[in-house]
Amino acid sequence: MKEKLDNIIKNAQAELSKAENTKELNDIRQQNLGKKGAFTELLKSLGSLSPDERPQAGKIINEARMMFENMLTEQEKKIKSLEKQIKLSLETIDVTLPGEKSSIGSAHPLSLVRDEIENIFIAMGFEIAEGPEIELDHFNFELLNVPKGHPARDMQDSFYVDETRLLRTHTSPVQARVMTTQKPPIRIICPGRVYRFDEVDATHSPVFHQCEGLVVDRGINMAHLRGTIDVFAKRMYGSKVKTRFRPSFFPFTEPSAEVDVSCYLCGGEDKNCRVCKGSGWIEILGCGMVNPNVLKMCGIDPDIYSGFAFGMGIDRITTSRYTISDLRTLFENDMRFLKQFQGL
Ligand SMILES: [Zn+2]
Repeated sequence: MKEKLDNIIKNAQAELSKAENTKELNDIRQQNLGKKGAFTELLKSLGSLSPDERPQAGKIINEARMMFENMLTEQEKKIKSLEKQIKLSLETIDVTLPGEKSSIGSAHPLSLVRDEIENIFIAMGFEIAEGPEIELDHFNFELLNVPKGHPARDMQDSFYVDETRLLRTHTSPVQARVMTTQKPPIRIICPGRVYRFDEVDATHSPVFHQCEGLVVDRGINMAHLRGTIDVFAKRMYGSKVKTRFRPSFFPFTEPSAEVDVSCYLCGGEDKNCRVCKGSGWIEILGCGMVNPNVLKMCGIDPDIYSGFAFGMGIDRITTSRYTISDLRTLFENDMRFLKQFQGL
């Protein structure tokens, strides 16, 4: 019996010293103290001894078992502390490593120009209004004095979703929506994306951006329009520029005008100017007094109120501002092109 116990202890000691983790330790515990473990088997064999021998044998078995348990606890402590060290070393952060650089994006040139336009008008007391890009024919054409069969519809050859809805061809429907839901005084600009069935080339794109403006109040006249556009042009292109109005036609304004701004680069002095191509003027927007029919259709009494409206192409302003020769570069998302606007 004594010999057997010595063997068990010796084996257990050898095994324990080899154990490297909690799982191996548990296996050794099971092998010795489990249901079929070495100590359990020995205790079971006590029955075969004579009653006189049993107490003495039981005592040595228990002593040996306690010794084994102490060894187990000792080894368990060692392994636990080792495991903790390994875990800590894995979680260590090396503060001397160089950091990972995350690249910062930049605003798209169209966004830069749009922000600039918005800020100029906000400073003049305008609010920004937005509307859906899939628009009802009713708002996109009807309320703007362009009934079915009107030639202006052909000029804006459009993307129809179904009989009554289309991708908006201008941001003017936002004006119609505001006029039908708000009472004057109205002073808004509506920047946004618009769609027309245009072939793609250096100066045309089926998707482009407009910023329209609308003022409706008592006693609004052409002088207010002239003054507002002049302030806008001077803030956008520099205080030296002049503006000129040329008569034009739009179904939703009467009278209507196109506005040119004198060349901010050469002031009309350079015959080979890359911005104005030598003409001295750059066309920037269309505008006019809101047609009384439009006011009436939108539920505003034209005998009491009058208004002016204007619209400009953000893309055109962007290409002339940054002397971009091809409109397509604005939509190709080529990083080499876009990176040039970083920090502007
Ligand atoms: Zn010029």
